[in-house]
Amino acid sequence: METVWLNGRFLPAAEAAVPVLDRGFIFGDGVYEVIPVFGNHILRLAEHLLRLRQSLAAIYMESPHTDAEWRGIIEGLLERNPGGRDRSIYLHVTRGVAPREHVSRAPLTPTVFAMCNPIPERVHDTGLSVVTHADIRWQRCDIKAISLLPGILLREHAQRVDGSVETILLRDGYLTEGAASNVFVVRKGEVRTPPKCNFILPGVTRDLVIELLRGANIPCLEAEVREPELFAADEIWLTSSTMGIAPVTRLDGKPVGAGRPGPVWRAADCVYQEFKQRLGAMPVAQPAPARASG
Ligand code: PLP
Repeated sequence: METVWLNGRFLPAAEAAVPVLDRGFIFGDGVYEVIPVFGNHILRLAEHLLRLRQSLAAIYMESPHTDAEWRGIIEGLLERNPGGRDRSIYLHVTRGVAPREHVSRAPLTPTVFAMCNPIPERVHDTGLSVVTHADIRWQRCDIKAISLLPGILLREHAQRVDGSVETILLRDGYLTEGAASNVFVVRKGEVRTPPKCNFILPGVTRDLVIELLRGANIPCLEAEVREPELFAADEIWLTSSTMGIAPVTRLDGKPVGAGRPGPVWRAADCVYQEFKQRLGAMPVAQPAPARASG
C-alpha cells in the first residue's frame, strides 16, 4: 500500500487522517508543491522549495521544515514507494487545527502532508485539445494555494465543452496561463510566454523550458500575449511538472496552425527529453542553502 508522510511520520495512506477542524479542510487555508522526480533525480528541488517558502510567506507562514528536512521526507517517500520511472512528490502545508474563525488567535502547529504519485507516460502524437475562458480566478495566482475551486471549475468547463483537457485563460484581453499549466505560443518561429506577475504561477517547468530554449538557440521572449496573438499562433504549448511540454493542436474546436504538433515544439521537446535523460544519470539534487522568502 502507498506510504505517505503526515506530521512527522511515514504511514500507510489508508491510516493517514486529519482532524475535521484542520483549516485546510475548513477554509482551504494552505499551500502545496508538486515536484517531478525523473529516475532518481528530484528536479529543481531548490526552486520548488523556494516557491513553497514564497507561497507560505505570502499567507503569513514560515516553512515548517528546513530544506534538508524536506529532502529527507522526499527521499523517504521515494524509497517507500518504488516503481515507475517518473514520479511526482506532492507537499501540502496547512495552517493547522483551530476553532473555525477566519483569523486564528492562538499560535498553531501546521499540518504537513506529503505523498508520491507515478507520472503517467504521455504520447504527444496528436496533441491536446483546449478551450479558452475568462480568467475568473483571484489576483494572487502566484501563490500555489490548495484552494483550487476556480481551477477545478475551469477544467470541468473544458471537459464539458468538448472533452478538452485544459482551459487557457484570458484576463483583460491578455493570455495569463492554463488552469494548471503555463502557456507558450509560437508565431513565425518566435516563442513567447507571458512574464511573471501576480496573475500567473511562476512555473518551475516554464523557467526550465526558457533556459533550455535559449541554450538551444531557439528565440524565446517573456512578453505579453494579446488575445488575437493567441488565436493567430502557429503553435501553442502547455508546460507543467507532470506534463512536461505538451503541444496544443485544437483551440476552441479549431486547429492550431496545421493542427499537428509543430516543428518548434518538436525541437523544444527533444531538448527537454535529452535533458531528462541526462538527469537520470546524475545523483539526487542538493537543495540550495535556505534564502529569505521573497
Ligand atoms: N500554473 C498553474 C495554475 C499550475 O497549477 C501549475 C502546475 O500545477 C503550473 C502553472 C505549472 O507549474 P510547474 O511547472 O511548476 O508545475
